[in-house]
Amino acid sequence: MTIDFLIVGQGLAGSLLAWELLGRGCTVVIVDNGTENASQIAAGLINPVTGMRLVKAADIDYLLPAAKHGYTRLAKFFRQDFYLEKPMLRLLRSEDEYKQAQKRLLELAYHDYLDPPDKPESQARPFAAPFGSIAQKQTGYLLTRPLLNSLKDFFIRKACYRQTDFNATDIRFSPVLSWQDLTPTRIIFCEGYRAVQNPWFSWLPFQLAKGEILTLEHGAAVPDTMLNYGNWLVPITSRQFRIGATFDHEQMDTQTTGPAKTTLLNALVPVSAELAQARCIHHHANIRPCTLDKQPFIGIHPRHKALAVFNGFGAKGSLQIPWYSRQFADALLNGTAMPADIQRYYASHFAG
Ligand SMILES: Cc1cc2nc3c(=O)[nH]c(=O)nc-3n(C[C@H](O)[C@H](O)[C@H](O)COP(=O)(O)OP(=O)(O)OC[C@H]3O[C@@H](n4cnc5c(N)ncnc54)[C@H](O)[C@@H]3O)c2cc1C
Repeated sequence: MTIDFLIVGQGLAGSLLAWELLGRGCTVVIVDNGTENASQIAAGLINPVTGMRLVKAADIDYLLPAAKHGYTRLAKFFRQDFYLEKPMLRLLRSEDEYKQAQKRLLELAYHDYLDPPDKPESQARPFAAPFGSIAQKQTGYLLTRPLLNSLKDFFIRKACYRQTDFNATDIRFSPVLSWQDLTPTRIIFCEGYRAVQNPWFSWLPFQLAKGEILTLEHGAAVPDTMLNYGNWLVPITSRQFRIGATFDHEQMDTQTTGPAKTTLLNALVPVSAELAQARCIHHHANIRPCTLDKQPFIGIHPRHKALAVFNGFGAKGSLQIPWYSRQFADALLNGTAMPADIQRYYASHFAG
């Protein structure tokens, strides 16, 4: 069967790219091995202003509208909300952070993203915040598992989904590019962290980061606000919430660990000793496809022009993937500039 694109991986990257290409009339088959992936367990947070210095990322002004637009279209199509906007209370951790927050408010560019900081002595908060807090706006989270399930069902209905492990050595390059019964124009790898095992793209400088995340159930109602206290807390029902996430650059497996659980619970104690006592009902671990320069890896293999990669969304898949899917589709179909082009590493990292 002749098709336009064979996509390997049905995480958020492969799914949203397939959705974009199908929407443009392309023929697509998406292959996934069906194991739990980083996208499914992610908290899906979108947070435009991050770090101790409360910095707004330069690309937020186009990434955020594209993400909201993309998730709204999906919500309309599947008649289900996937992206939930919710303010995030940032608990300031020092006098310096409080001053930094006040300074940020003087900058016009931050007015859409931050409310004036709450004074340290304010009693209004349900959480301990000795240095005060600041309400972040335009924050929210993506319900990744329901979205991926809806998209998978859609792909199955369109007969363009196959559940199998894709072995790169099964690709035939002549007389035409083929894999099993398929002859695609291009094969696009959206394998998340497994890209480091891909014989065609493992030369890219990934800097994988394992992350663990807990879902807790509390005996009483949980305040309905997201929290950022170095880690984050996301309420998901009136009594359940998620906390996360660890960053581990050493252990590259998907096993949950006792030390990570303890670290996450201990970090919550100074914020709310009561919530830190909540019962743990789920504990997940997976691996973020982070990259050396914190930019995605998108583009065409330097030697095999029929092979492409769409990966490297690190800890920001929910925010970045909608915009990059559109730009990548434009580059593939209309010859526009490749976004986050892996060409930047051809000379320094591709041995030939
Ligand atoms: C604990 C944790 C918390 C996170 N929190 C957030 C957050 O709050 N906000 C945010 O934006 N991001 C978050 N992330 C990051 C987010 O998960 C990633 O940015 C995003 O999921 C990457 O998507 P992906 O499709 O590239 O990879 P994945 O989701 O890993 O998907 C890759 C898919 O390809 C499949 N695959 C790979 N190789 C093959 C093969 N050879 N054959 C068949 N199938 C294959 C895999 O099984 C998988 O289904 C978090 C990650 C972790 C681990």
